[in-house]
Amino acid sequence: MTTETDDDDAYSFDSKIYYDDDADPTAIAGKTVAVLGYGSQGHAHAQNLDDSGVDVVVGLREDSSSRAAAESDGLRVETPGDAVAAADIVSVLVPDTVQPDVYENAIEPNLEAGDTLQFAHGFNIHYNQIQPPEDVDVTMVAPKSPGHLVRRNYESDEGTPGLLAVYQDVTGEAHDEGLAYAAAIGCARAGVIETSFREETETDLFGEQAVLCGGVTSLVKQGYETLVEAGYSPEMAYFECLNELKLIVDLMYEDGLGGMWQSVSDTAEYGGLTQGDEIVDEHARENMEEVLEQVQNGQFAREWIAENQAGRPSYTQLKTREESHEIEQVGEELRGLFAWAEEDEESDEEKTEVRA
Ligand code: NDP
Ligand code: MG
Repeated sequence: MTTETDDDDAYSFDSKIYYDDDADPTAIAGKTVAVLGYGSQGHAHAQNLDDSGVDVVVGLREDSSSRAAAESDGLRVETPGDAVAAADIVSVLVPDTVQPDVYENAIEPNLEAGDTLQFAHGFNIHYNQIQPPEDVDVTMVAPKSPGHLVRRNYESDEGTPGLLAVYQDVTGEAHDEGLAYAAAIGCARAGVIETSFREETETDLFGEQAVLCGGVTSLVKQGYETLVEAGYSPEMAYFECLNELKLIVDLMYEDGLGGMWQSVSDTAEYGGLTQGDEIVDEHARENMEEVLEQVQNGQFAREWIAENQAGRPSYTQLKTREESHEIEQVGEELRGLFAWAEEDEESDEEKTEVRA
């Protein structure tokens, strides 16, 4: 006989999670939000806020390539400086690498006491690239998804999970206001997890380096190279090591590791369970700990800031090397020959930075 898992065994979460019912829309009502940037996140926040009845002004450069889009979406557009001057809440949604510059030139001169400086990622605050004055609130509302989905899920009444963090609260209203903002862009329909700038920044950087973007691409390339160097065909190696990854990840996404193990054959399950830890072994674990340490002690941030200041020489070189890997040519050819690539065209617009 089996016994049902009772509540005592259920995992209890450390984090607080908020929903629409917890949010007080009056915390943002009557306030003007300047959305700086109209890219992935900017266009979604601006339109969702506007549809939720919040007063929005989009801040873009005079010659901005996004100006026409924002205007044709019916939004008021000003220069970043004028938008900040008109706003109570400044939502900083330009790329992280340009934020310090935009802050210095357009935000800081126009911020007033009691305003809110709001981010969708903690990098610049956590690593002191932006040092806000002491008389403003500093918050983060970070949807856990690319902007196009934030917009689409809002329109379909679904919502997108998000994070909320308060770094500085001088008005005593930072938390309520942040939660009201999260609700207005649709995040509180799905759930908003309370976190800190430090936790969001460090877990985000670690995740994308060790597992999501860095770890997984290395695993794919090394699997592919191992098969091809042993004489197997590049097509087989591509399907096995890259294409099928999506199917496995979809199963994990839907039902966890268990859902995946249940769907694959017993042979795959036995082989995977015995060999997985042999491949990604204690050395990989030590490397992960080192990656985490460099994120925590600021070494990675200093390196990336210096890289940008130098005009991105290593970044450009590494990008070129990645693009010229054989798996990329093989993949392009194969995706052109098979039908599954067509249905993916529609989602090309969503190919944007993983925010994990
Ligand atoms: P984008 O790269 O999509 O932002 C592009 C926008 O920024 C464009 O409107 C561009 O306008 C404007 N912009 C660029 N440079 C400047 C500048 N110097 N002055 C004024 N405007 C400028 O950014 P994201 O939406 O990807 O990222 C915004 C924030 O959201 C970041 O903090 C990011 O970490 C975070 N985030 C991103 C997620 C994602 O999936 N993309 C997920 C969750 C959080 P122009 O035409 O003038 O260049
Ligand atoms: Mg990231």
